[in-house]
Amino acid sequence: MGVLGAEPWSEEMRKRIEDSTGIKAYDIFGTSELSGPLFTECQSQNGIHIWADQFLVEVINPDTGEPVANGERGELVITTLVKEALPLIRYRIGDITVLNWDECECGRTHPRIMRVLGRADDMLIVRGINVFPGQVESVLMNIPEVGEHFMIIVDRINELDIMKVQIEMTDAAFSDKVTDIMDLEKKVGAALKSVLNIAVKVELVEHGSLPRSMGKAKKVIDNRKI
Ligand SMILES: [Zn+2]
Repeated sequence: MGVLGAEPWSEEMRKRIEDSTGIKAYDIFGTSELSGPLFTECQSQNGIHIWADQFLVEVINPDTGEPVANGERGELVITTLVKEALPLIRYRIGDITVLNWDECECGRTHPRIMRVLGRADDMLIVRGINVFPGQVESVLMNIPEVGEHFMIIVDRINELDIMKVQIEMTDAAFSDKVTDIMDLEKKVGAALKSVLNIAVKVELVEHGSLPRSMGKAKKVIDNRKI
């Protein structure tokens, strides 16, 4: 069993981890202000339970501060109900998620936060469209030739936002034939466009060539001066 959650990760990444290691991979969530990692998935692996007898949980529209409807995407806000010394009232965690109050398969009625899509401050606006690095990861992890490391680079050229994604190939997919690489770049670009609704320039790079980091990975370079 693996309990993983230093940074947001996608359902597709879970499948890759489980398939390649043979473990069950569970998501966990918490922040240092709330005493660290507090909330985990149950055996159903379908959302992280928030212990509703200890915490009042809300998901709000980050612009208006108003709670969104059940199942709608917004920013996570938590109020501690029993914490002493450092209670928090409507504390804005900054993560974008969906709150699900439906009873879980496991029988618990504590609400679940569904896959955290990223932090409100991770969200990129490219040509007026909201883009989360987690969406890019979801698309990439469904393409077997693509490795686990990628970098999103956004530039503004002649008043137009240009989004490029550099992606490491797996060693197995690496080819000496330029046409193979171009075909794969086209395939990845089309898959990204179908989900993000914007054109993305795809650049495949050799396995091991993108920077690695300890802890939270840096996945976005925004070169725009706005
Ligand atoms: Zn459950």
